[in-house]
Amino acid sequence: MVSMPTLPLEGASPAHICPFDQACSYLEAAAKELRLDQGTLEILSHPRKVVTVSIPVRLDNGDIRVLAGHRVQHSDILGPYKGGTRYHPAVTLREVSALAMLMTWKCALLGIPYGGAKGGIAINPQHYSVGELEKITRRYTSELIKDIGPAVDIPAPDVGTSAREMAWMMDTYSVNVGHAVPGVVTGKPISIGGSRGREMATGRGVMIIVREALADMGRTLEGVKVVIQGFGNVGGAAAELLYQAGAKILAVSTGAGGLFAADGLDIPALKAYAAENHRSIVGFPQAVAISNAELLTLPCDVLIPAALENQITEENVDQIQAQIVAEAANGPVTLEANRVLEGRGVTVLPDILANAGGVVVSYLEWVQGLSYLFWDEERVNREMEHLMVQAYHQVIKQSQMRQVPLRLAAYTLGVGRVAQALSDRGLYP
Ligand code: NAD
Repeated sequence: MVSMPTLPLEGASPAHICPFDQACSYLEAAAKELRLDQGTLEILSHPRKVVTVSIPVRLDNGDIRVLAGHRVQHSDILGPYKGGTRYHPAVTLREVSALAMLMTWKCALLGIPYGGAKGGIAINPQHYSVGELEKITRRYTSELIKDIGPAVDIPAPDVGTSAREMAWMMDTYSVNVGHAVPGVVTGKPISIGGSRGREMATGRGVMIIVREALADMGRTLEGVKVVIQGFGNVGGAAAELLYQAGAKILAVSTGAGGLFAADGLDIPALKAYAAENHRSIVGFPQAVAISNAELLTLPCDVLIPAALENQITEENVDQIQAQIVAEAANGPVTLEANRVLEGRGVTVLPDILANAGGVVVSYLEWVQGLSYLFWDEERVNREMEHLMVQAYHQVIKQSQMRQVPLRLAAYTLGVGRVAQALSDRGLYP
């Protein structure tokens, strides 16, 4: 056992499972498989930098509230830190630390020259006006001004944030340093240097990895029964692209509950409905309402948890009926549940592979920005698909070579590359 980093515990993640302990367990398993020495494991277990800032904000009613904002930089061994910014009430420092560590392995697995980071504020963005959210985002960025930058740490959207917040972050950073710096964030609007294809990128990556896994089983996406938890940036895009490819989307959900249609949901109609109803899918006429708990246990070929972590746990894993679980969210399957699924022969497509399409196109956005040369969407999608398919096949090969499940195979690739780079760079001083 390594001595685990002493991060303050403030609040529990959903289902009271510590995401950071889980992330460390996966790292330990990979380190054991790779026979890494204890010192290397100690280094990789600790985030390099943990920043918590106070964000005082004057609300629309004149009151002042002080929020806590986190940014955890896990590793920059392979390149600048990279990772999303989450606005959600369940955000804790331990959750952000776990997600930062996942980013390190994900970037290494995909072969892109980034380290891992994550940021977050424990708020429900729906409880704040647009003006308040702008003030919160700008002050958070301003407090982190010395810790982020295009060669240092590059935030992106995550749960509860979007291109809008990235534009505010880019503008705040640029105003503070005195000139426009589009490369400080990715996932920003196209008008200020965002990449074509970024908005759909994570969902597209999920679709590609599911398609490849089905192909290995001798199947195509045509007629495949899919259930998706979450209908936001990732779940919504995955639903749309899988629908276009001929899959039957039996159910989708948001935090407010889910919808089921035995013959498949009309995803374009549902998207139009959500757009008209402030992103709510409640009351969509051509479907039956179901709970998120029911949704996860529906019989289907492919289950795509695309909301939050710890959704498939010891409590419900025995009722999961899917043949493939594609982790579009980060950490949606707990350690114990993962063991059960793998033991039952369910194909679990791990998060660091399945949802990597977003960071791949973030990387392509950064590359386009640095070279002042912007590509059409077809080229962005092609480059992304190449990296995703390549990583998928590397994971399959590693899994066969080491006789380990896909998650451990993916981790051994990601962790192994970072450990190799650490060994080549050496320990300073
Ligand atoms: P989002 O905020 O756009 O969407 C989240 C969705 O989950 C919404 O539909 C929301 O209603 C739903 N949701 C929230 N709480 C829920 C609950 N308790 N039960 C069921 N549904 C719930 O966020 P997103 O960007 O789509 O991110 C979703 C997941 O994908 C997260 O785990 C995130 O870390 C991961 N991810 C996102 C990206 C990206 O590019 N945005 C990239 C990689 C991984």
